[in-house]
Amino acid sequence: MNKQRSRFAYTGFDQPRSAARACDNPGCAKEGEYRAPKSRKALNEYWWFCLDHVREYNRSWNYHQGMSAEEIESEIRRDTTWQRPSWPLGYWGTQEKFLRDRAAKGFGFDFGRQARQEEDAEQAQRRKAARTAEEEALVVLDLTPPVDFQRIKARYRELAKLHHPDRNGGDKAAEEKLKEINQAYNTLKACYGA
Ligand SMILES: [Zn+2]
Repeated sequence: MNKQRSRFAYTGFDQPRSAARACDNPGCAKEGEYRAPKSRKALNEYWWFCLDHVREYNRSWNYHQGMSAEEIESEIRRDTTWQRPSWPLGYWGTQEKFLRDRAAKGFGFDFGRQARQEEDAEQAQRRKAARTAEEEALVVLDLTPPVDFQRIKARYRELAKLHHPDRNGGDKAAEEKLKEINQAYNTLKACYGA
């Protein structure tokens, strides 16, 4: 039917772009191949940048920007009415500190390889310290107990979007990360899922 395809690229959610578009950084003439969310509250709305500018943007982008200290705190540790006595407090204290430190220095989408490597190394250490698959999965999803399935699902969706290869220029590391995230989600689904 549709013999004449639109000359405009479809830029809808989850679709790779097929046509050139200029970098959204004012005055930059390069192609905008990399997308970055416009803000924490609009993770599905994107700027399109060239590699240099997406790196610059990601360095300065702070996931927790605009949140009060209290909001950051409750994002890291949600209050619920129940506790699991088997969870080692010291261990989760360390994980919370990691998340807090990261909130303080800014949570990038880091195409910046070095920033991501540092973060991954820190997280890997925490994963090694985990005693069960469930604990490890929570670390991968950057969660600390107590959690419920709603929260796990919400975080999973958020991280799966962030690390989706389409959004990371087909980056191998992002692909690996997405695999880990999927695995962690499946583990937690088995523990908490309906
Ligand atoms: Zn640019």
